[in-house]
Amino acid sequence: ERNLDAGRADKTAYIWLGEDGDEKHLTYRELYAQVCRVANGLKSLGVQKGDRVVIYLPLTLEGVTAMLACARIGAVHSVVYAGFAAGALRTRIEDAGAKVVIAGDVSYRRGKTTDLLSITRQAVAPLAFVEHVVVFCREERALGGREVAWDEVSTGPDECPAEIVEAEHPLYILYTSGTTGKPKGVLHVHGGYMVGTYTHLKTFYDLQGDDIFWNMSDIGWAVGHSYIAYAPLVAGLTTVFREGAPDVPHPGIAWEIAERLGVTAILTAPTTLRLWLRYGNEPLKGRDLSKLRTLAVAGEPLNPEALRWAQTHLLGEHGYVMDNWWQTETGAPTLGTFAVHETRPGYVGRPLLGVEVAVLSETGEPQPPNVGGLLALTRPFPHLYRTVYGAPERYERAWTEFPGYYVTGDVAVQDEAGRVSVLGRADDVLNVAGHRIGTADVESALVSHPAVAEAAVIGVPDALKGEAIVAFVILRSGERADEGALIEHVRDDLGPIAAPAKINLVDALPKTRSGKIMRRLLKAQTLSQDPGDVSTLES
Ligand code: AMP
Repeated sequence: ERNLDAGRADKTAYIWLGEDGDEKHLTYRELYAQVCRVANGLKSLGVQKGDRVVIYLPLTLEGVTAMLACARIGAVHSVVYAGFAAGALRTRIEDAGAKVVIAGDVSYRRGKTTDLLSITRQAVAPLAFVEHVVVFCREERALGGREVAWDEVSTGPDECPAEIVEAEHPLYILYTSGTTGKPKGVLHVHGGYMVGTYTHLKTFYDLQGDDIFWNMSDIGWAVGHSYIAYAPLVAGLTTVFREGAPDVPHPGIAWEIAERLGVTAILTAPTTLRLWLRYGNEPLKGRDLSKLRTLAVAGEPLNPEALRWAQTHLLGEHGYVMDNWWQTETGAPTLGTFAVHETRPGYVGRPLLGVEVAVLSETGEPQPPNVGGLLALTRPFPHLYRTVYGAPERYERAWTEFPGYYVTGDVAVQDEAGRVSVLGRADDVLNVAGHRIGTADVESALVSHPAVAEAAVIGVPDALKGEAIVAFVILRSGERADEGALIEHVRDDLGPIAAPAKINLVDALPKTRSGKIMRRLLKAQTLSQDPGDVSTLES
């Protein structure tokens, strides 16, 4: 709406791409009308301010429209990544107490079709409180019972006055992938969230009015909420997003698209960088990426080798790789390396505007530089989450374990210049002969071997050392390496203490749906334990 007032009505808000080559452009005027129609449709189904609506839509324009339509009428959306299984979807619908679910019939990825409607039906079957299931169909499906077609919901009047809400009114609940235990409904609000995500879009990502910004995340994740659905619209940008895998139909598809659309900035995750690393430089041949200025990477520790490859081969002299650390809870980048700052590989960067961090000992004492410990924030900022939906004590615990600090759950170290290196999740950190070793360090040492594309390490009980390191390694296409050489390589890089006791060469690593390596599952498999809730796993 603010873009219509600012003369950007005919500017392209979104370019949506499908894996099969399908492409749709939507102007700000068209987006506005579509959002209003869906907002009116939701109202006609009885959705009111404060009601929760679960969105289980594939990464489509309809997915974004549904989120914005909820926001417009003050309803609280909770997007569940399309592809989670029925059990995970049901838990989230129940926890949110959603009276309406908006689902897709199918999603497409890697040439495969996932039947979202069947999953949805299975999920809602025992849930009597769900009044309506709105279904966005791309294939022929017969609907019945509580099901309503998206087309019916989206044909109302194309004006719908925005509900005026308090700045602190809830905007959405997003369940974190929860590498441990029960999913956590992270709640964000309208005011501070919009201010904060926009501020970092401007001050950190440095996106400007004529940028063509490709966000490779999904609306199912925090990065997709803040930087597909919200902040780029507040800033009036053109945002590109694509349903499907980044190497389908061929390994160079991203560069073909980036060149054709004149993409100037990309936001992606280390897992994608490592995928490209695996294919090498061949897919880049003959591509002109000179317009690409920014490659922002978030979600996991960025392995120095992946960083070096991207800086050299994708950005060259015309742009920068910008590592940035954040969480679903923080809503926006929190630590990062500005384009104007010198990059220190293995270090994500400094606290961003409005952020103060500390590294704490296990008893909550702030640690001096270069000593590892628990990464904490010392104060909130406008776009930090407000609570855990239905479990405020979980939010409180994060602030009260060490009074005055918000504990992030990560282990990190800060150098004299204030740069932070994230060593991994506290649950994953290795303890070998009394030494704390970050999973990220050992994995990055492995990835720095010319034959290695990706690695994951875990600790297994060892009578002598407490824990011994076991590594799982994916080699680059066409490369070979033996176990001894890889162990030797880590020993040379990090010292004998960090040398893996065993290396397993594998074709794939278990990952969360958002692409994070699931070390907990590898560990459980190795030790034949029950891994707990793995509903978030890539099947
Ligand atoms: P999520 O809330 O699912 O997005 O996960 C947040 C977690 O991802 C953080 O607590 C970190 O463990 C990890 N993470 C995100 N960004 C980075 C980064 N740039 N470097 C290292 N770890 C990261």
